[in-house]
Amino acid sequence: MSGLIHVEKCHAFAQKASEGELLDQYCFFAQGMEAKALLILREELGQRGFKADSLLEHRKNHGERVYFAPDGYPKLCKDCRRAATGHSTTWAKFFGLLPLFPRRVFTCDDHSVVG
Ligand SMILES: [Zn+2]
Repeated sequence: MSGLIHVEKCHAFAQKASEGELLDQYCFFAQGMEAKALLILREELGQRGFKADSLLEHRKNHGERVYFAPDGYPKLCKDCRRAATGHSTTWAKFFGLLPLFPRRVFTCDDHSVVG
């Protein structure tokens, strides 16, 4: 993958991402990102009116609820690009029909599932 494609993808993501996704990607997933990608996210957040102090606040307040893997990397929501703040157990199904085994799925505030 060339750097140019990566940058274009990052621009496309930043433009269509929700504020929550942008904040989470910037605040919690920065360690896996190139500096250029981080800059794109930071610019988009700036255009949407987020200043440095609100980013720090999000990192601190929301970060207390995020599930982190043992390697220090946050769990990703199963349905979007937000950091997971909840989890539940669902059944992995054979051909989508027969329950095989329970598996844990991680979700954000918007996609939390009950039961
Ligand atoms: Zn989600």
